[in-house]
Amino acid sequence: MKKILITGSSGLLGNAIKLLENNYNNYEFIYINSKICNLIDYTQTLNFFNNIKPDIVIHLAACVGGLFKNISEKVKMFEENIIINTNVIKASSECNVKRLIACLSTCVFPDDLNIKSLDETMLHNGPPHPSNEGYAYAKRMLEVHCRLYSENFLDRKYFCIIPTNIYGPFDNFNLEDGHVIPSLIHKCYIAKNELTEFEVKGSGKPLRHFIYSKDIAKLIFLLLEKEDFNENIILSPNEEYSIEYVANLINNHFNNKIVFNSKYSDGQFRKTTNNNKLNNLLNFKFTDLKDGIEETIQWFIENYDTLRK
Ligand code: GDP
Repeated sequence: MKKILITGSSGLLGNAIKLLENNYNNYEFIYINSKICNLIDYTQTLNFFNNIKPDIVIHLAACVGGLFKNISEKVKMFEENIIINTNVIKASSECNVKRLIACLSTCVFPDDLNIKSLDETMLHNGPPHPSNEGYAYAKRMLEVHCRLYSENFLDRKYFCIIPTNIYGPFDNFNLEDGHVIPSLIHKCYIAKNELTEFEVKGSGKPLRHFIYSKDIAKLIFLLLEKEDFNENIILSPNEEYSIEYVANLINNHFNNKIVFNSKYSDGQFRKTTNNNKLNNLLNFKFTDLKDGIEETIQWFIENYDTLRK
């Protein structure tokens, strides 16, 4: 039985993997969160990895946040991610881990509206959007680091998945630091309880692809089954939706009066992805955005007292 070590187990994706774990009896799962092992500390990380001796590492741990956290904490986003990623990749190789999947994001791509759609070859072709420079450059180095290991050590398959905007249960629902879907669910819930307007930051016009966290967990297992696969791959559904459309979907559950506040940043206008590689590799059916949002709202309401917010 192969041992899989998953970093970032208390986050959105780590929890999505835990929910599916029972369907995969051919693996032994070991999870790390920051309380179990501080990935900022290399010696601690190496010792932990040496004790476990994993066959496969799924590296999901990261310092993450929505647009407004990326703007206000650029140094932290850069430093913590560079250190955590370097430690995890290096410790994995030291412990002879043969397969590693690390997680990037489509928000680290160049910000160029003249490109029709972003594919895996374009990651380093220009500067990222200024709002998330710290996070983007740290994540781009994660891609370089994985690729160099795969090139220099022929028995290592270290590659990156590149999901678009992720949402789902166990997200961070903080009003300031969260990504757009969890922040808007939380805001909409408060507006309903306090009989106030539901305020959406920015113009509502930017476009995003959204992916449900459970779909990424399923895709990770499907990629693991392809034992020779060793390429960066974008994980994104075809459809793109405006922030206004998403705000309305969320509000359908709560029925507040919506207002858009253009004094806040819109961030990147769009980051349309090309998912041909994924579609050619797997015949995957993504969760419909409406269904994923409804499940996430249900989870949010049921877990309001204990969730991250
Ligand atoms: P991004 O795709 O990396 O920019 O990540 P986000 O999930 O933070 O989405 C940002 C987009 O949603 C921007 O166009 C914001 O203006 C818009 N938005 C509207 N309200 C909110 C909010 O409460 N939080 C966040 N993070 N974004 C919001």
